[in-house]
Amino acid sequence: TDPIRVAIAGHGNLGRGVEAAILHNPDMRLVGIYTRRPAEQISPRRPDTPVFAIAELAGHADRIDVLILCGGSKEDLPQQGPEYAALFNTVDSFDTHARIPDYFAAVDAPARANRKTALISAGWDPGMFSINRALGEALLPDGETHTFWGDGLSQGHSDAVRRIPGVAGAVQYTRPVPAAMEQARSGSRRMLTTREKHQRECFVVLQEGADAEQVRDTIVRMPHYFADYDTTVNFISAEELARDHAAMVHGGFVIRSGNTTAGTAQTIEYSLKLESNPEFTASVLVAYARAAYRLHCMGQYGAKTVFDVPPGLLSPKSAEQLRAEQL
Ligand code: NDP
Repeated sequence: TDPIRVAIAGHGNLGRGVEAAILHNPDMRLVGIYTRRPAEQISPRRPDTPVFAIAELAGHADRIDVLILCGGSKEDLPQQGPEYAALFNTVDSFDTHARIPDYFAAVDAPARANRKTALISAGWDPGMFSINRALGEALLPDGETHTFWGDGLSQGHSDAVRRIPGVAGAVQYTRPVPAAMEQARSGSRRMLTTREKHQRECFVVLQEGADAEQVRDTIVRMPHYFADYDTTVNFISAEELARDHAAMVHGGFVIRSGNTTAGTAQTIEYSLKLESNPEFTASVLVAYARAAYRLHCMGQYGAKTVFDVPPGLLSPKSAEQLRAEQL
């Protein structure tokens, strides 16, 4: 059979990750990278990958089986998701959790009207963690689910620190509190507070003449971002920031503990330890691109989430092969 023709819209961290992930999936072929920037500013991983202006996408509908949307959730996807779902089968990693129902509706209507399949909010959270939360609840209805994030670099919190006057550069790590994880694993049903579950640690480069104590104070008191957490602030040099904090590590745990009969505890745990958040997210997107294409071939149109995709559709293997090898 012919390889699935995949294209990338948006060439940031995630777009570069998708390029890498496709190389591990011989049943898929990358047919183009589409960008809002001048094409000559983009360096594809393989020099023979064509780069196009995003305006050309509309004319390329017959060349592309699935378009992977790699834009940002805040500004790009709310516009690009509905627009491209009218023209292509799409996959994206929209991760603004509270707005997923609205985004689903905005993508569903154009996809249905044009008989396309649009898989939204794939990745790891939302994505693999969502599946594991839903599984945990279904298998152990009498229980509690705890999600822990980290150790990981949070882009949003790093940006918030960088915007503080006097800060020249910064990264922020979210770390689960070990005692809270032990409690979740122990089957204890007590709900943990925000402060009990995660700590935040910042590495900050100061501008010349900036007041370190004032910067520290602004960080730890920042509402929504830091005020509800125990936050540690470390001041480092620009060289240390570049040397030790460039990797986009992340990961986390979904722990479901519950009881099947009184006094009989059962615990399910799923964990990820990621040296590159965007490369892993991109690997998930590529597997879901295969599934979205198959759903489309089966006539299942409209917006879908990870809950709507049978796991077998993610695998390059046939149902017969999976039954023989994996059951
Ligand atoms: P980036 O900021 O790296 O890229 C977003 C877009 O910005 C790109 O598609 C690109 O579009 C544009 N861009 C990238 N680099 C430049 C540049 N140097 N100059 C100008 N424009 C640039 O974001 P990420 O790829 O890291 O993440 C994308 C989204 O993925 C995030 O917003 C997040 O919501 C989501 N995500 C979801 C996860 C999940 O588990 N569900 C996990 C991780 C991320 P263009 O080429 O058109 O200019």
